[in-house]
Amino acid sequence: MKIIVCAKQVPDTNEVKIDPVKGTLIRDGVPSILNPDDANALEAALELKDKSADVSVAVLSMGPPQATYMLRECLAMGADEAYLLSSRTFGGADTCATSTTIAAGIRTIGAYDIIFAGRQAIDGDTAQVGPQTAQRLGIPSVTYVQKIREIKDGSIIVERQLEDGYEVIEVKTPCLLTAVKELNTPRYMSVSSIEDAYKAEVNIWDENNVNLKAEDCGLKASPTQILRSFAPAPKGKGEILTGTNTEMAVSLVGKLQELHVI
Ligand SMILES: Cc1cc2nc3c(=O)[nH]c(=O)nc-3n(C[C@H](O)[C@H](O)[C@H](O)COP(=O)(O)OP(=O)(O)OC[C@H]3O[C@@H](n4cnc5c(N)ncnc54)[C@H](O)[C@@H]3O)c2cc1C
Repeated sequence: MKIIVCAKQVPDTNEVKIDPVKGTLIRDGVPSILNPDDANALEAALELKDKSADVSVAVLSMGPPQATYMLRECLAMGADEAYLLSSRTFGGADTCATSTTIAAGIRTIGAYDIIFAGRQAIDGDTAQVGPQTAQRLGIPSVTYVQKIREIKDGSIIVERQLEDGYEVIEVKTPCLLTAVKELNTPRYMSVSSIEDAYKAEVNIWDENNVNLKAEDCGLKASPTQILRSFAPAPKGKGEILTGTNTEMAVSLVGKLQELHVI
């Protein structure tokens, strides 16, 4: 069984600030990490590999050259192969162009049974790339996968997370699944696997390697236009009511009536 995991290198959002004048992310000096949901996606693939010797796991990313560090981390966790789609032509891609490029990379890697992606990336946060990639490949997808129940011959049974429960879905393979953090706990890398990962080859491909024309990639193929991005102004200090429960309830009702909320 061949599994391909889509992994994105993202800025560590605990460290990111927004330029108040330009409205853009200040990325300088911000450490990059493997997108958290993608670590769950990779762990799911590796757990299937642990159970069966005939499972191989490839990791695929689109990003700048420094994304090779993140891919080596994936190799050190246990992935067998790593592919980076990297070219100036891919720059400025919105989710539409990103999924076109990722789908082309997947086709170039070759036959596959399962593609895992994260539910969403913590920087772009759209949760669009997984389902869009499935659509471009013409395969079914299940989003928000919180548990893999059973792998059958030609299908897979998963639990799909809902706000108030879950649904059980059987989906034909090949398919694309997007992982949520409840799916598993990603493993740590071992010291020896880190050494091996730094010697391993990361395949770096541009648009020619994946048979894409320049006009189908990056900014040229991105219909999205961002008019403004900003950090919401911090809210004013809240008021904490004191007293007995009844006194606080009476006080709250009075304040809401003053504001004509009730
Ligand atoms: C006009 C415009 C220009 C942009 N220019 C750039 C730019 O120059 N550089 C840039 O980095 N971003 C750029 N972005 C942001 C970029 O479009 C998104 O980050 C990207 O398309 C992924 O969307 P997302 O982060 O919402 O991912 P989501 O849809 O939330 O991600 C879901 C899952 O898809 C997979 N995935 C997503 N992106 C990748 C990837 N790159 N490689 C592998 N797997 C992936 C992961 O498994 C991830 O968990 C731009 C956006 C717009 C609108």
